[in-house]
Amino acid sequence: MAEVRRTKLLIIGSGPAGYTAAVYGARAMLAPILVEGLQPGGQLTITTEVENWPGETVIMGPELMAKMRIQAGHVGAELVSDIIASVDLSQRPFVAVAESGAVFEADTIVIATGASARWLGLDSEARLRGRGVSACATCDGFFFRNKHVAVVGGGNTAVEEALFLTNFASRVTLIHRRDALRADKTNQARLFANPKVEMVWNATVSDVTGADGVTGIVLTDTVTGATRSIGVDGLFIAIGHDPATSLFRGQIAMDEEGYILTAPDSTATSVAGVFAAGDVKDKLYRQAVTAAGMGCMAALEAERLLAHGVAVRAQEAA
Ligand code: FAD
Ligand code: NAP
Repeated sequence: MAEVRRTKLLIIGSGPAGYTAAVYGARAMLAPILVEGLQPGGQLTITTEVENWPGETVIMGPELMAKMRIQAGHVGAELVSDIIASVDLSQRPFVAVAESGAVFEADTIVIATGASARWLGLDSEARLRGRGVSACATCDGFFFRNKHVAVVGGGNTAVEEALFLTNFASRVTLIHRRDALRADKTNQARLFANPKVEMVWNATVSDVTGADGVTGIVLTDTVTGATRSIGVDGLFIAIGHDPATSLFRGQIAMDEEGYILTAPDSTATSVAGVFAAGDVKDKLYRQAVTAAGMGCMAALEAERLLAHGVAVRAQEAA
């Protein structure tokens, strides 16, 4: 017989959004249960220095997440090592079943399952990730002062990452697999006007070179098939992200890319009592501090709903 646990607040995910929701939920006496998932600590556990978390000049990603975990436990959140395998948001209490077979019945749920960057899929890219290969210019651009970096992609993210990188790098090469960008015209105009940016059209990156850090990339022309190498100090991949929302598909409103929709200035989703925080609902900022801020909002909104029956504007997210 599967173990059935009842909670006022179930938090799914243990990145900055999940742990912050746990801290606020515990301090609101909701005795939250947080299920950590396959990647305890979330995306920051796969990076090195974090220089933009308030109060920490420089901190290693895994250390920061370990501190958040300790804090969540310290204030009384129950942290469970498991993965949620299915949810039923159609009944009250909500029901979530974990891979271990444990069943959670919850009055409210905070979804904080995050997102992951898409990668090119090259062995060399994986080997040099965190050592010159990155998917986050806001996070790592600072490390490339006066260096030459390349960005892959043709969407708004790639263009904005390239423009952001011009604040640090001496030269930014944007590589796109076609001969026209997908990004907004305004973004394109800004990009083309920037003297530090050069474009490589109709090309894909077929290899990344370097032993302990990136020294160059091999480009393959998508029209002729010809290859050539260029020297760069860093490579930023900006070909999109995948939110971890397959669990909730068909049960909650999402946009066409699978990001959970929330009401304006709120974490309320289309299902009353279910809140979404962090990268799972945010494709604009994708930062630890913004994810944590939304985790705080989600727990406060859950607490308000439970205490006062405040009808959080669920319908606005639909
Ligand atoms: P995530 O951190 O993505 O966490 C998602 C959590 O959900 C994980 O714990 C996972 O196990 C869990 N989960 C998923 N599915 C399930 C499930 N079915 N059941 C239970 N749990 C589940 N941001 C910065 O501000 N500064 C930086 O320097 C910085 N550097 C970065 C470097 C790298 C390499 C990467 C990839 C990202 C970086 N970011 C940085 C971005 C930052 O990590 C994210 O914005 C932030 O982690 C998002 O937090 P989150 O809580 O929304 O989700
Ligand atoms: P996106 O719009 O899906 O663009 C991804 C880009 O990566 C495309 O140009 C695509 O090429 C390219 N690409 C995909 N797979 C590739 C591969 N394997 N190799 C090489 N290139 C590859 O993703 P995004 O730029 O992350 O944007 C996501 C959403 O957020 C979009 O709706 C975007 O408008 C929005 N967004 C908006 C803003 C803003 O409004 N300021 C900022 C950021 C993001 P093709 O073009 O050939 O398909």
